[in-house]
Amino acid sequence: MKFETLTIHLSNGTHESHGAVVQPITLSTTFEHGNEAGMLYSRANNPNRHSLEQVLAAMEKGEDAAAFSSGNAAGTAVYQALAPGSHIVAPDDMYHGLHNSMVQLFAGIHEVTFVDMSDIEAVKNAIRPNTALFWVESPSNPLLKITDIRQISALAKAQGAILACDSTFATPVFQNPIELGADLVMHSSTKYFGGHSDILGGALVTAKKDAFWEKIRNVQRIGGAVPSPTDCYYLTRSIRTLAYRMKGHASNAKALAEFLVSHEQVEKVYYPGLASHPNHAVAAKQMHGFGGMVSFTVKGGAAAADLLVSKLRFFANATSLGGVESLIERRAAVEGPNTTTPENLLRVSVGLEHIDDLIEDMNQALG
Ligand SMILES: *Cc1c(COP(=O)(O)O)cnc(C)c1O
Repeated sequence: MKFETLTIHLSNGTHESHGAVVQPITLSTTFEHGNEAGMLYSRANNPNRHSLEQVLAAMEKGEDAAAFSSGNAAGTAVYQALAPGSHIVAPDDMYHGLHNSMVQLFAGIHEVTFVDMSDIEAVKNAIRPNTALFWVESPSNPLLKITDIRQISALAKAQGAILACDSTFATPVFQNPIELGADLVMHSSTKYFGGHSDILGGALVTAKKDAFWEKIRNVQRIGGAVPSPTDCYYLTRSIRTLAYRMKGHASNAKALAEFLVSHEQVEKVYYPGLASHPNHAVAAKQMHGFGGMVSFTVKGGAAAADLLVSKLRFFANATSLGGVESLIERRAAVEGPNTTTPENLLRVSVGLEHIDDLIEDMNQALG
């Protein structure tokens, strides 16, 4: 099955005898012993989560998937599954919530080195005898850095370590990290999978059902940070349109990035689809499209950036990304005092409004 077909037919289709075309939401927390599907208790599994995990695995070309109650819960499950005393190599530019998970929740349990993952020599130098996990995020948040996943995969294999990739910004429409050598793929389903800014969720997909995957399954089942059947239903429903939404997000993002490059009030534009992006060649090689996220810096510092945001009509000043509506935020203000993100950087989640309206709005606000 091609991507568009599998997202529709492996998600919430139904084979129930009453012929409903869409799978019902099964709210029951418990299931009669001996049932055909092997359901027991809804923390361990339930029909809606099963359907969601099935389509997640298929989209990412993995053997299995596990759904979590948030992207942070999914990422944190990987760090929980590592043996204590493990060393993690992680990107210097990454989602701050998972950075916080590593440094706050696992302080004294694991060691972490943050490096520029687009610099392979820096990654090599960071490796220690106990390096057990390479955590990649590509494209990264919020600087849209691109990591060569194949290159890191070679290092991970030589080290006998796991390579996990947070592929939230790319989605499986534009990137399949498992095909590039990753062992695990992580997603915040809150973003493009949900796609309408109304569901919180996370996912892990594994290349192989190996011993480490069993540990992650245990974290999911025993730790219990699982999504409700209703959330799973809405995710499978949204995933059915993912391919088409991503095409719209990416085409709008490219046009907006090109407009921003041409504007004199704009200092720098970060978008992997631009030939001027330092890792454009790597992005073009490992991605099938460049996604819907664009960051840029404006002349005049934080104050000018805040003023611009206040003048916009179609871009809500809000965190998060991946919904049909455009969002913008000054990232440094959200990431707090220790951030290395430029203070005049604005991150845009380019929505599915008509591109002419978005550009016209951005143009009037840039003034
Ligand atoms: C939002 C996000 C997360 C965390 O996901 P939540 O669903 O908010 O817990 C992780 N990684 C990236 C790249 C994200 O954008």
